[in-house]
Amino acid sequence: MYTSKQDISYGIVGDDADFILKKAYAFDDEINNKDVVKDCQKCYARSMCSSCLGSFEIDKGEVAVSNPIFCETIKHVTIYTIKKLSEIKGDEERWQRLNAFLRKNVYE
Ligand code: SF4
Repeated sequence: MYTSKQDISYGIVGDDADFILKKAYAFDDEINNKDVVKDCQKCYARSMCSSCLGSFEIDKGEVAVSNPIFCETIKHVTIYTIKKLSEIKGDEERWQRLNAFLRKNVYE
């Protein structure tokens, strides 16, 4: 991904590993970061979104979401999940079952 874009290159094979790591960390801070993307800053799904770098258009250090279908999918899943949780929370038995499932399969 992005192998032909010099301005976001980590380096080339044979470069010093520390140099490559430094470029990678800078890339994460400056580019691969929802805090710097305008669309993401106002998005209600950002805490659930994996913000796949593949959905971003990177041009000379500027980052923008380029794939609205990716965002719509994340937003739809977020709303669906919240609605489902609200529905389950309204039923004590289902809520307890969900929590037991999470304790057994996710937290442990
Ligand atoms: S859904 Fe789109 S706009 Fe929202 S945080 Fe994810 S990448 Fe950004």
